Amino acid sequence: MICCTECFRDIEVKSIIRRLQRLGRCTTCGNLNVYIYDTETDDELTEVFETLLSAYTPVSSLPEEFPRGNLSLLKHELHDSWNIFNLDPNTIYSLVTCICRERYRSIPELFDAPIGILQSEQRSYLDENSLLKTYHWEDFVEAIKTQNRFHTDHLNEEVLQIFCSYVKKIYPVGSVFYRARISDKLGFPADQMYAPPPGMASAGRANPEGISHLYLSDEVMTTLKEVRAGAHDYVTVGRFELNEDINIVDLTAINRISAFSELNATQHAINKRHLEKINREIAKPLRRQDSHLDYLPTQYITDFIKSIKNEEGQREYAGIEYVSTMNQDEKGFNLTVFDESLFTCTALTVIHIKGLTYSAPGRYEWRPV
Ligand SMILES: [Zn+2]
Repeated sequence: MICCTECFRDIEVKSIIRRLQRLGRCTTCGNLNVYIYDTETDDELTEVFETLLSAYTPVSSLPEEFPRGNLSLLKHELHDSWNIFNLDPNTIYSLVTCICRERYRSIPELFDAPIGILQSEQRSYLDENSLLKTYHWEDFVEAIKTQNRFHTDHLNEEVLQIFCSYVKKIYPVGSVFYRARISDKLGFPADQMYAPPPGMASAGRANPEGISHLYLSDEVMTTLKEVRAGAHDYVTVGRFELNEDINIVDLTAINRISAFSELNATQHAINKRHLEKINREIAKPLRRQDSHLDYLPTQYITDFIKSIKNEEGQREYAGIEYVSTMNQDEKGFNLTVFDESLFTCTALTVIHIKGLTYSAPGRYEWRPV
């Protein structure tokens, strides 16, 4: 079977295929003049896929008491849980059985029968390898809201640190970000465009009340949306330039770590849903009716990331990056920096918001009164 770089989303797989340097027509997705891989003659993908498949056990080899609800078919698991393919489940099945031909011959039930992750039901394995040990996200939220706020037993910090290291991103000196504040026509001076003074900061998703972090965005439009500027508002936007190279944790990518990274496949697989949750929770927009307690889980995670030290005993990460749900269409993102002195506000502009565009469903559901 022939497949190509376009059949895949995973960057590791794409680069393996590209390295073969063979251009042609892909009979799987129909693309022309693309880098192709022939499962009949190439075997560079066999081992990487077999390593991932080793995380799964067919139902016939799982213990009796393994919850049936946690079983699924390999083609669905590969399609739904991992960001590997640009293909539908049935095509994934055909392709994977060709890539792992030997394995398919020896254990067909791994591909054809329901499968599960044996370790996902083993308490001792979860305690050591799962981000939330044997707990669910909701248990963690409940515990820090109502039991122990500053020392939770629910989060496995060593595991979180491992995942953070896989989404470490470097920004070089001179990188530019933006920050907006609703103002008047004259705007704010530069010294008022930084984070609020310590003790004065109100709670946000990435900072508890009183602890001041600098919230920045990738684009002017993202920061205007983040500050929720209204029609006819004047908004001062500051251009912030980075004073030195920094490392940050890119939480936009934490649920998209390659299935073929150096991470242990089983550990990665059992944490997929927790990583999805962290990615979503940190990006959730603040709403007026939110209780400040709702921010505790992401504040806790941010605070932990802030506390991670490098080998020299200094702070490893200068901040965290996450998706802007206010500017999702343009794939905007935000950067929260723990120490504002890493940036200098180098330019200012005052923007007058001419109008807003509302988006609503095409049909309204009228309720008779
Ligand atoms: Zn293709």
